[in-house]
Amino acid sequence: MQKRILVVDDDEMNLMRTQIILGEDYDVVLADSGVRALNILKTQKVDLVLLDIDMPLMNGMETFERMKGFGLDVPVIFLTASGEVEDVVGALLLGAVDYLKKPYRPQELKKRIAQEFEKK
Ligand SMILES: [Mg+2]
Repeated sequence: MQKRILVVDDDEMNLMRTQIILGEDYDVVLADSGVRALNILKTQKVDLVLLDIDMPLMNGMETFERMKGFGLDVPVIFLTASGEVEDVVGALLLGAVDYLKKPYRPQELKKRIAQEFEKK
């Protein structure tokens, strides 16, 4: 069965781009906010989350902390713009598995995800 990847980003263009990059190989689910992402995570089995840090209302760090609060143990790769290094370090300390700087290249994204699934 295809692995399911939840992509969380307030930027619709980035959601669509990521869907195109990953859609051939994975079951891709999109969320345009942290709240939507948490609702999906409560009701569907997700194998990996790509999580934008910079989002209004609930940013990626808060979304991540809430996931942890639910006891959800899903690998998370953060998506960051430049200048968010402190956030990324904080996220890695909290248990995120990796991060990617936007805009990422399709091959790089695929490689990182494959690496994560190979760990299991
Ligand atoms: Mg954003």
